[in-house]
Amino acid sequence: MASLALEGVVKDFGALRIIQSVDLEVRDGEFVVLVGPSGCGKSTLLRLIAGLDKVTGGAIRIGDRNVADLTPAKRGVAMVFQSYALYPHMTIMKNLSFGLENLKKPKDEIERRVIEAARMLEIEPLLHRKPRELSGGQRQRVAIGRAIVRDPSIFLFDEPLSNLDAALRVQTRGEISRLHKRLGATMIYVTHDQIEAMTMADRIAVLNGGRVEQFGPPLELFERPANKFVAGFIGSPR
Ligand code: ADP
Ligand code: MG
Repeated sequence: MASLALEGVVKDFGALRIIQSVDLEVRDGEFVVLVGPSGCGKSTLLRLIAGLDKVTGGAIRIGDRNVADLTPAKRGVAMVFQSYALYPHMTIMKNLSFGLENLKKPKDEIERRVIEAARMLEIEPLLHRKPRELSGGQRQRVAIGRAIVRDPSIFLFDEPLSNLDAALRVQTRGEISRLHKRLGATMIYVTHDQIEAMTMADRIAVLNGGRVEQFGPPLELFERPANKFVAGFIGSPR
């Protein structure tokens, strides 16, 4: 578990400034949802936190460390992608253990962590299958399991439910919320679904054009939007 602070974070791609000086303080164990229209910089912000991209300016702190120069593996952060990003030729067991093997963790510890995560997500019976033999919902659980086995202090989710049908989305939403309570980890969750944002978040950050328009509890954004953009985004059903 750890707090996260973005301080004046800026990201340029070529001549384009995609993230415009973002400040954000996330509390230890908090569930923060990032919402905003397509292209506003949500995925970029997660990639910067994960260390998959380098900031152009500003600082990112996890706990009391500035992580700017740390590799993704050293940041204690795990990311769950919309596309699941599973290795198609590996079994589910191998998909879950692969990252830990690369980190040279002892074999019995890897096995313990994989079994524990598989139990938590009820995917134990699937461990010897390949990804193509799983449903979309099952693949998404494996993707979440792969984050859990790394025992990160911060989980990053990039629209993890957008490839699931409506019923499964509601169910998985509940499961991620329960997981949050159970693990007590800090979670940053990106979605463009305002119902997901309103129901899951401790606090919501509304992004627009690479800026944070407002950051606060769901009810506060709903009742006292800072501007028309936030009012339109949180207020109107989409
Ligand atoms: P969101 O996840 O909110 O839909 P992204 O963070 O993916 O938005 O993208 C924000 C903007 O940054 C978009 O205009 C996108 O085209 C641009 N962008 C993202 N990644 C790159 C990259 N590697 N090179 C150039 N432009 C990028
Ligand atoms: Mg995105």
